[in-house]
Amino acid sequence: MYTTTEFQQLLEDKLRRKRGKEIKEADDKDVYEAVASIVQDSITEDWLETRQRYEKRNERQIYYISMEFLIGRLMESNLMNCGLLDVCSDALRQLGRDPESVYNQEHDAGLGNGGLGRLAACFLDSMASLKYAGHGSGIRYRYGLFEQRIIHGNQVELPDYWLKEAYAWETRKANESLKIYFGGEVHSHARADGSLEFTYKHADEVLAVPYDVPIVGYRNNVVNTLRLWSAELPEHEAEIPGDSESRYYHHLDHMHSVEQISGFLYPDDSSLEGRELRLKQQYFLVSSTIQNILREYKANGGSIRELHKKTAIQINDTHPSLAVPELMRLLMDEERLSWEEAWKITTAVLAYTNHTTLSEALEKWPVDLVQQLLPRIFMIINEINERFCRGLWFDHPDMRLDIPHLAIIADDQVHMARLAIVGSHSVNGVAHLHTEILKKREMNRFYRLYPEKFNNKTNGITHRRWLLQVNRGLADVVTEAIGPQWISQPQKLSGLVRYSNDAAFLEAAGQVKQENKKVLAELIQKRTGIHVNENSIFDVQIKRLHEYKRQLLNIFHIIHLYNELKDNPSLDLTPRTFIFGAKAAPGYYMAKEIIKLVHHVASIVNEDPVIGDRLKVVFLENYNVSLAEKIIPAADLSEQISTASKEASGTGNMKMMMNGALTIGTLDGANIEIKDLVGPSNIFIFGLSSEEVHRYYAEGGYNAKDLYHTDERIRRILDQLHGGEFGSQEIEFKDLFYHILYHNDPYFVLKDFDSYVVTQELVEQAYRDPRHWQKMSVANTAYSGKFSSDRTIHEYASDIWKLTPVRS
Ligand SMILES: *Cc1c(COP(=O)(O)O)cnc(C)c1O
Repeated sequence: MYTTTEFQQLLEDKLRRKRGKEIKEADDKDVYEAVASIVQDSITEDWLETRQRYEKRNERQIYYISMEFLIGRLMESNLMNCGLLDVCSDALRQLGRDPESVYNQEHDAGLGNGGLGRLAACFLDSMASLKYAGHGSGIRYRYGLFEQRIIHGNQVELPDYWLKEAYAWETRKANESLKIYFGGEVHSHARADGSLEFTYKHADEVLAVPYDVPIVGYRNNVVNTLRLWSAELPEHEAEIPGDSESRYYHHLDHMHSVEQISGFLYPDDSSLEGRELRLKQQYFLVSSTIQNILREYKANGGSIRELHKKTAIQINDTHPSLAVPELMRLLMDEERLSWEEAWKITTAVLAYTNHTTLSEALEKWPVDLVQQLLPRIFMIINEINERFCRGLWFDHPDMRLDIPHLAIIADDQVHMARLAIVGSHSVNGVAHLHTEILKKREMNRFYRLYPEKFNNKTNGITHRRWLLQVNRGLADVVTEAIGPQWISQPQKLSGLVRYSNDAAFLEAAGQVKQENKKVLAELIQKRTGIHVNENSIFDVQIKRLHEYKRQLLNIFHIIHLYNELKDNPSLDLTPRTFIFGAKAAPGYYMAKEIIKLVHHVASIVNEDPVIGDRLKVVFLENYNVSLAEKIIPAADLSEQISTASKEASGTGNMKMMMNGALTIGTLDGANIEIKDLVGPSNIFIFGLSSEEVHRYYAEGGYNAKDLYHTDERIRRILDQLHGGEFGSQEIEFKDLFYHILYHNDPYFVLKDFDSYVVTQELVEQAYRDPRHWQKMSVANTAYSGKFSSDRTIHEYASDIWKLTPVRS
């Protein structure tokens, strides 16, 4: 496309015209913006053509609605997908610039909490790269997920004002704004034909303004769209009244409350924050998305009765499940379809993905709140519920006793998962085990009612970002061995299996890992001042902080190793560096205590001369996508140690496997599918099974205090927390101590401790044989092709969306 010199020229021109600067006087930000502008130029035409092609060919479209898109940075992946990454990096280097520090100028788009939001971002990448007519729809939060600082071992949250400098990838489309209504009263009048017309009085009007972000396919000229909605005051209200002071302040208040709707992302991962503003956000997203879909469909000449033939909508978790009544509302009130017609279309269009069975995440909203905020929507939910329950009573007499557990409105609450299941034609879980648990337990009543709706779609990650982009060293070694086909067909990574006895290949892959560890060690040194041993095991646990993810089990193991070394300083222990990254929800007390504990343990272990560099504990603050991209290529050991049955799938496990880390994990989520692929000799499995966990919950039989009294290692650790070595006047972990012993260790940390320690010893032994370890590492990369989100998206497309790739 361009030679390095041409690109250099282009860049210098841009700098002059856009920033009025010569390259010599430009800082990294100037250069970043110039590069972004070049990329924009090269995308624009394809973006337009992609849209026109979908319209002209009247393609079936899929809209992925999600409250979260955890995008991270886009510069490198956009450059890579346009085929400009190498030429741009070379040009920058020739101009005396460090490409990485230019690309790092981009502020992460942190519009998500963790796995669920990152999944949505990977799906967008795969849909564009596989040429599916698929779009994302989300909220343009002015503040993304908080920035985490650690002060004296405590998490402090800072607002993430990511739009401080203009976001390079978005385009405001004010002329495509839509109106959203909240509150007020609903009135109905009979029309001449006898049908009912609904009008709203005294409702608050909010303007939804779209901002489009291009989603660039991998070297295929496809550019799809992520449309993010921003809440603004409608134009006719925007004029500031000048006639009285109080009206002026009232007006500012009103403007502020409207803009709050897209003000910030709720920082709770896998738990429900039942506030009115959150419900407003959900309806705001759903109403703008569905109005927009109908507008585009009709503009293209589609007949509303055939909407389901050209449109599929996937709702990411229950957060957008108001899509069910909102689509019904628009089809009936605006398009004048009958209930029966509207219902047929709604259920044919919508599909729902379940992400968790944790009870604290089950979305329920008080009837009063829904009724007052969304009066017309509430009427429709009520009618859906009435018809559903009536159908159960008459058509399924055997299920009459189950009605209280199936009803959409029960105990004065609207049950969002039930609404989503009843209103969709597909309900999917995100890993084999998770889907089985939904069918057999959590949603068994619905499964008996609608067995045909339930299906599994095991999560995936985009191998382009998570291998090709973030680990160029390994990607090159792989391509050298098996050719570049794996980039478009990730399952072809299995060709590496043949190389697991090839000394030269193992050597090359091992060398890359060593270099990646060196780079990470430098980052750790720079950010924390801790010097780590580059030959130690890089033992990584990076994910949101949650009791069910059991960072505590990891810490207990560290304390245990520390105790062993103190008792026997000459113990021959394989050196380890424990690396943590984790944000806790701001109101999650136990999670914050655990962060404090990691820091406290680190301060003792890292300073102890007896320990030396045999053990180091590192907590990297502000874990986000960009930090993940730096840690994952350097990981030796991937900690996936959730209480079995609690982690629906996990995707961090897949990213690390693909980068050649070995997993130590429970038989939970997608870990099971990893094990089935690599075989038991290439993974370290430990702990209770999900059946055993379930049995203890159902029948009892576990007593944490017994373990405290019988296992000296456990007693010693817990006592250290309670005021011994790991507690002091200022820092105490009594709450953790009591929580575990007096709430009977609900996540089985103590129960799985012995099995975890034994398995960690196997890890140590294995690491002492570098060649053997490297072989296992290569097997992990080789079998990771299944976990490309390309595979996941192909499955959604063929089983749920009935979508085929667009022909060029
Ligand atoms: C992949 C990813 C996650 C999900 O990690 P899990 O280990 O599956 O919980 C969370 N946050 C970020 C930034 C990620 O990149």
